[in-house]
Amino acid sequence: MKDLVHFARDLWALTKPYWFSEDRWAARGLLAVIVALNLGIVYLNVLFNEWYNVFYNALQDKDWDIFVAQILRFSWLAALFIIVAVYRLYLNQMLQIRWRRWLTDRYLTDWLAHRVYYRMQLTDSGTDNPDQRISEDLRLFTTRTLQLSLGLMSAVVTLFSFLAILWTLSGDLVVPLGGGMSVTVPGYMVWVAFVYAMIGTWLAHKIGQPLIALNFNQQRVEADFRFGLVRFRENAEGIALYRGEADEHRSFRQRFAAVYANWYNLMRMQKRLTWLTAGYSQVAVIFPFVVAAPRYFSGAIQLGGLMQISSTFGQVQESLSFIVTTYSEIADWKAVVDRLLGFEQAIIRARTQAMDSPGIRVEAQDGSGIAVSDLALELPNATPLLNRASLAVEPGAHVLLTGPSGSGKSTLFRALAGIWPFGRGQVAIPRGARTLFLPQKPYLPIGTLRDVLCYPDAGGTHDDATLREALAAVRLPLLIERLDEAGHWANRLSPGEQQRIAVARALLLKPDWLFLDEATSAVDEEIEHALYALLRQRLPRTTIVSIGHRPTLAAFHERRITIARDGDGRGSLVEALPAAAS
Ligand code: ADP
Repeated sequence: MKDLVHFARDLWALTKPYWFSEDRWAARGLLAVIVALNLGIVYLNVLFNEWYNVFYNALQDKDWDIFVAQILRFSWLAALFIIVAVYRLYLNQMLQIRWRRWLTDRYLTDWLAHRVYYRMQLTDSGTDNPDQRISEDLRLFTTRTLQLSLGLMSAVVTLFSFLAILWTLSGDLVVPLGGGMSVTVPGYMVWVAFVYAMIGTWLAHKIGQPLIALNFNQQRVEADFRFGLVRFRENAEGIALYRGEADEHRSFRQRFAAVYANWYNLMRMQKRLTWLTAGYSQVAVIFPFVVAAPRYFSGAIQLGGLMQISSTFGQVQESLSFIVTTYSEIADWKAVVDRLLGFEQAIIRARTQAMDSPGIRVEAQDGSGIAVSDLALELPNATPLLNRASLAVEPGAHVLLTGPSGSGKSTLFRALAGIWPFGRGQVAIPRGARTLFLPQKPYLPIGTLRDVLCYPDAGGTHDDATLREALAAVRLPLLIERLDEAGHWANRLSPGEQQRIAVARALLLKPDWLFLDEATSAVDEEIEHALYALLRQRLPRTTIVSIGHRPTLAAFHERRITIARDGDGRGSLVEALPAAAS
């Protein structure tokens, strides 16, 4: 029970925001119309139910006039029903997609803000496949929530409408007790329907409960499998070069084995539940005839009455059995809600961590240079990486950062960029200064070459002449005529070409501070030399801070700083001899 209250509270927290958002009036309006249409369907069903009585009596009495009148009546009722049914679905779907659009946008905002997505990946914060939460689960959540809540409402209204009818139709049941005594059960068909549905619901719950966990799991293993395939596609070349197909196949098989195993369990449970639900609804066809037959044969009711009882019983039984018939959907929906709640909590946790313990503070301050003070870097598991270090970089004094692989150079850059959350200390960046970080493997979005070059700005930010000129400057003349070509450029260009694209971006963005993390490691020394000369010449007001291993780089930097490891494996920043002199 406590669980249920808890769940209801969480569910409300998940559901409420949309209905109070800026889209609330459209949402509430649509919902009101959909509710009205649902009630309209119930009302039409009541009219159909009365129609049964009149129509079958006309058949029994061979009354032609009433027969024709009833056929006409049925026709316009049916026409009305069709119109209501069409718009009920149409507007329902419209509400679903509006709700989903709003939720998707909110989740994306929360996930991207404060670099929650990055922190969640670094700390592996217990939420699998965020992509699936945002695409699949939000879709299922909006669809199922509307479907189930409106279904429940219809079931309740149907139940009460038809209970009233069934009560008046069913008459009294006189149960002889022997010795001339008897009890009279008024509206006995109502009790019969009630007991029938209660037993069904209880059985469905007993049999169907394991479905919740299994559905939850199924979504997860499917997503893991899909993610494996996507990752494979993204790394096709690396795998091909290693001839890693056999290993990949093994891992696909393993992931699919999990899909298979869970599906098998799901199947078995579904089968057990279907025995119940199919059997249950078949029995429901014949059951009311059996129960009402004595009154028909004794002449207490006519054929019309019998047919109406059967239809009424059907409606009552169906609405009482709402839970039985929708159990697997409820199970599915509960799993979706649990996953979304888990995801939301992970987002909140990551955001709170980001806001409560800023760790390394990167702030804009007056002054012309970048000042790092008392910076200590740690790994996500709190292993220290860099001792408290301080460093001041003045504009124009280009710095080369060196050190053994794994000593923390890239992590220091991440800290300067303000994305590394583990550690303490302060980084002051001159107010208004623009910084640009180029990693070893640049990120290229999927799109036209123009989009790729202008990233992270929109594709039309620079005119074509500027883009062409930048391509020529970084020695990519063959790409000049391909600005409009769309594709997955990261798979098409060599690492060296990709790095040159990144340098072209730096030329376009003209940052005040440019951080190059082995950003020219994939081009030969001659081109590297040319690229650095280009940057120095074209961006005279830009201060370059580089990570690199080639000795030839020294010529382009005034200072050299090394990360040296002490006995405990912790690094510290050591100013080496002036680079040019070394
Ligand atoms: P460098 O750039 O000097 O080669 P990095 O800064 O990339 O080194 O990495 C420093 C150390 O931190 C390495 O030992 C690396 O394994 C570790 N490290 C980097 N990122 C992570 C991470 N996300 N989780 C755990 N360890 C990490």
